[in-house]
Amino acid sequence: MSVSQNAGAKASSHFDAVIVGAGFSGLYQLHLLRDKLGRSVRVLEAAGGIGGTWYWNRYPGARCDSESHYYCYSFSRELQQEWRWSERYPEHPEIRRYLNYVAERFNLLPDIQLNTKVMRADFNDESNRWVIQTESGEQFEATYLVTAVGCLSTANVPNIAGLDDFGGDWYHTGHWPHEGVNLAGKRVGLVGTGSTGIQATPVIAEQAEHLTVFQRTANYSVPARNRPLDDAMQAWIAGNHDEIRLQARRTTNGHPFDIPELSALDVSDAERAALYEAAWERGGLRFRATFKDLITNREANETASEFIRDKIRSIVKDPATAEKLVPHDHLYATKRPPIDTNYFETFNRDNVALVDLKADPIDRIVKEGIRTQAGTHPLDVIVFATGFDALTGPLFGLNVHGSDGVALKDVWADGPRTYLGLQTPGFPNLFTITGPGSPSVLTNMPVAIEQHAEWIADCIAHMRDKGASRIEATREATEKWVAHVNEAAEATLLPMASSSWYLGANVPGKPKVFMPYAGGLAHYRQICADVAANHYDGFAIS
Ligand code: NAP
Repeated sequence: MSVSQNAGAKASSHFDAVIVGAGFSGLYQLHLLRDKLGRSVRVLEAAGGIGGTWYWNRYPGARCDSESHYYCYSFSRELQQEWRWSERYPEHPEIRRYLNYVAERFNLLPDIQLNTKVMRADFNDESNRWVIQTESGEQFEATYLVTAVGCLSTANVPNIAGLDDFGGDWYHTGHWPHEGVNLAGKRVGLVGTGSTGIQATPVIAEQAEHLTVFQRTANYSVPARNRPLDDAMQAWIAGNHDEIRLQARRTTNGHPFDIPELSALDVSDAERAALYEAAWERGGLRFRATFKDLITNREANETASEFIRDKIRSIVKDPATAEKLVPHDHLYATKRPPIDTNYFETFNRDNVALVDLKADPIDRIVKEGIRTQAGTHPLDVIVFATGFDALTGPLFGLNVHGSDGVALKDVWADGPRTYLGLQTPGFPNLFTITGPGSPSVLTNMPVAIEQHAEWIADCIAHMRDKGASRIEATREATEKWVAHVNEAAEATLLPMASSSWYLGANVPGKPKVFMPYAGGLAHYRQICADVAANHYDGFAIS
């Protein structure tokens, strides 16, 4: 197969597979399909560089909440031995350096076409091929279309009246200017206190003359305890590749640590407090794994929630500010739990103010700044840390039309319906990496991504071996899977957080449906493996 990068408009280039997106998912899928299967593949990437979410998210303080030694690929021991992470949690430039290293090491760049935004994809029922059109008018045809567009890549800028009147500059954290923003001497307003806002707040507070944090929902956060990785840790990582890999794969969230078989309700108050204190000191998302039932038992969770509330009260010196920062309307980790470096401490600074939007809502944005009911907050810069149209947003952005021209957006009008998160009936030969209905955002993403990319590659190899050209999830299997996804969510406390983006609640008009699969990554891996072993049960192959 061949294609010219400068092919004229409407020239059609043929491939076995087109992959959309060049982040963690797209790079590995390309490697598998091209180098393991010998397929012709083209990756189309809208950005001017590789990295996916890490290409765009360059806001102050942006770093990964998973630890570097497992927020990375595990498929190549050599790669893992060659690469040395510098800190416990990698900062965004280091992740981009890593992904660029991977792309060069596996010679992926020649098959990645940057600055190429997909505008539409149509399935042709006669040829059993996808026809993909780009913004510049190029056309690609491929038997398989693999979406590797990420779950959190469509920025959600709130529709607040008056934004156009604002006299200063405004930015969404997910589209932070690559040259950076000089905040020195500026009065900054930051809207949003999810993982992003909580990471950005302490860093912006140090850079800006003044920072006002506009908080709609108070959030729990646990210290990250970031630190440089010393030689002993580097040696441990290098010496334990296989164990780290295996452990990450056999756990609920794809993190290489086990959750103890201990209920928060089966220990004395003193023992429980000591365990929480140790987890607080250790830092990170592992706090969620202090007990086995924090995500499933309300009473158990209350003990963790209350521990963090007390921590907030002890850190923040002004009691009125502390009380505004204490969350009461949801339980710890029922929304994606942030981790932080000095978030609550930042509210002790003289140049930081907190506005509680529940008590004092935004009226509108005016030329001078943000006007709430109590008055105007003068600002030079507004930072929207207001999240994403998660999971479905990036897929709808591709404008996908399946059999008979049906649009994915219409089929999912009441919420996503997938089989294993991998496929949707009516969209043959379309595979989604970490889509809705898969564990995706409830996990350490690279582990979930590797599993999906490997499953898809194995499936395409199976198709080749059978001489088949069309694979489509059946409606029956999909309905069963959707019911199971709901059942798995209901077995946890997660759907109780009614404003969570897991439910699509952060985007006005989006159907409120719990989107990721909460049954655990290890369990999900087994289901996918069984489906494949059972002749791709639930898929129609021809
Ligand atoms: P988010 O969790 O959706 O948080 C958005 C924040 O903006 C919330 O506090 C929300 O308030 C607020 N908000 C939204 N619309 C608003 C409006 N109209 N007015 C006032 N406030 C508004 O988004 P995020 O913080 O960007 O994080 C999204 C996800 O990205 C995370 O959960 C995580 O999975 C991922 N992430 C990962 C990392 C990492 O690993 N390093 C870092 C950052 C993000 P409500 O709560 O009231 O809706």
